[in-house]
Amino acid sequence: MRVAGKVALISGGARGIGGAAARLLALEGAAVVIGDLLEDDGRETASQITDSGGRATFVQMDVTSEEDWRRAIDAAVSAYGKLDVLVNNAGISGRFIVEETSVDLWDRVMAVNAKGVFLGTKLAIPVMRRAGGGSIINISSIYGLVGSDSGASYHASKGAVRIFTKSTAIQYAKDGIRVNSVHPGFVDSPMTESYHGQPEIREARMAATPLGRMGLPEDIASGILYLASDESSFVTGSELVIDGGMTAQ
Ligand code: NAD
Repeated sequence: MRVAGKVALISGGARGIGGAAARLLALEGAAVVIGDLLEDDGRETASQITDSGGRATFVQMDVTSEEDWRRAIDAAVSAYGKLDVLVNNAGISGRFIVEETSVDLWDRVMAVNAKGVFLGTKLAIPVMRRAGGGSIINISSIYGLVGSDSGASYHASKGAVRIFTKSTAIQYAKDGIRVNSVHPGFVDSPMTESYHGQPEIREARMAATPLGRMGLPEDIASGILYLASDESSFVTGSELVIDGGMTAQ
């Protein structure tokens, strides 16, 4: 029960990495609020948790909407009395090189991946301050640390999350609010299913990963659990890379 008594809101918690984090945090004693666009998947994940004795609620939300964030945070406070942990996990990919990236795609990816993290953080801070502190966990990517031959808006958005995390950590340390980023490597999830389903891409990504396998959503959820728990009480402004060694090379 590593997060017993804590209340966590997980954006994009319906499936993939966010779904795994919701299940693990609930298993370790947290009450979880799953915020996602996907209503069926979100309700299904919440039901899996409650059916196995955990506490979970689903709130339909779009992370690009300030009003939706207000509703989701209000839902956490009215259901469970407070908010201790925010996992800014919702994200979309955008695998186009610079010249192939339209302004619309750039704006959409930045809105979900970067503005969404800013809005969630901004609205969670006063609620966490009232609770005496909290932990904000921003899901960036190895592609927020290094470049690649496939992507422009995605790299920019995840780089923004990395440095926004550090500034927020400095600005709110005095309030007991810790803010850290997580940088997953190549993970099998609904987001990457069709991409990783192409044998040559899968093989290239495994070959680029020293531990020689794809990541699982549960590999990332374990890092999220650590940052959510009091075990990481001296950790803020840091980058937790979970990538099988990919960026160590
Ligand atoms: P996923 O597509 O399986 O899950 C993302 C979730 O976010 C979905 O449930 C989706 O509905 C939700 N979402 C998307 N846009 C939203 C919006 N506007 N409002 C609310 N919810 C929204 O993807 P995943 O692989 O689990 O990715 C989770 C996070 O991890 C993302 O931020 C992603 O960029 C990051 N990441 C993933 C990988 C990977 O290889 N899978 C690697 C590095 C980083």
